[in-house]
Amino acid sequence: MKTQTTKIISIKHITHDVLQIAVKKPSNFSFFPGQATEISINKDGWRNKKGPFTMTNLPNEDYLQFIIKTYPSHKGITNELLQQKKNDELILHDVFGAIAYKNEGVFIAGGAGVTPFIAIFRDLQSRNEIGANRLIFANKTKGDIILEGEFTELLGKNFVNILSDEDATGYSHGLITEDFLRAHIPDIHQQIYLCGPDPMMTAVEGLLARLNIDKSKIIKEAV
Ligand SMILES: Cc1cc2nc3c(=O)[nH]c(=O)nc-3n(C[C@H](O)[C@H](O)[C@H](O)COP(=O)(O)OP(=O)(O)OC[C@H]3O[C@@H](n4cnc5c(N)ncnc54)[C@H](O)[C@@H]3O)c2cc1C
Repeated sequence: MKTQTTKIISIKHITHDVLQIAVKKPSNFSFFPGQATEISINKDGWRNKKGPFTMTNLPNEDYLQFIIKTYPSHKGITNELLQQKKNDELILHDVFGAIAYKNEGVFIAGGAGVTPFIAIFRDLQSRNEIGANRLIFANKTKGDIILEGEFTELLGKNFVNILSDEDATGYSHGLITEDFLRAHIPDIHQQIYLCGPDPMMTAVEGLLARLNIDKSKIIKEAV
């Protein structure tokens, strides 16, 4: 496996537990929107530990951006990333990923599962092709919503939030249900994109089946 070392250009929190990290793009690093790479930290004790993370910026930019939800209690790579600063080094591995844009449709994300969709929506916007694509974004609370302002600007009324642990005006409340999906998927023959934690994916796939959405219409990846 080919690895490439790169430097952090900037690192900051964009929610209470989500980091946005920009690194220099190695000269021969290419990807399409929705793809990920594995990252390690170039530091004693961490070089052999890696985690998959999605590039969230446009492929033609001269840096790579990652948006990373951190789990301090795991004491793993995301916790260690919280200690990193500008000019510290990361190691990038191969590029891979199952999610790529195909046709206009409905994107369903849970938490950090939105990361491949960030890249796809930014790419569509850069080509003036946002169209009627819709994002259903499930989070625990308002404070967990990643890039709420940007998605609101990009998608307008086609940005639909649902919060499991907070009942807030203007946001749906509860878990995603069959009725909720029926209300927000205008055409069951549309393309569906699904990305989130495993339990959320399993639940939503069950609901999509109940809506008679053909499995072949679903592009998915667990985070
Ligand atoms: C293709 C792909 C792309 C992804 N892209 C992104 C992205 O862009 N942004 C993003 O935020 N995430 C993304 N993820 C998810 C991300 O890779 C994981 O959240 C991350 O690797 C978790 O790393 P960690 O070191 O914090 O914890 P882990 O590697 O999950 O855990 C470290 C250790 O903690 C222990 N542990 C595991 N779970 C728990 C728990 N619940 N409580 C206590 N201890 C635990 C285990 O013993 C484990 O060895 C992606 C995943 C995939 C598959």
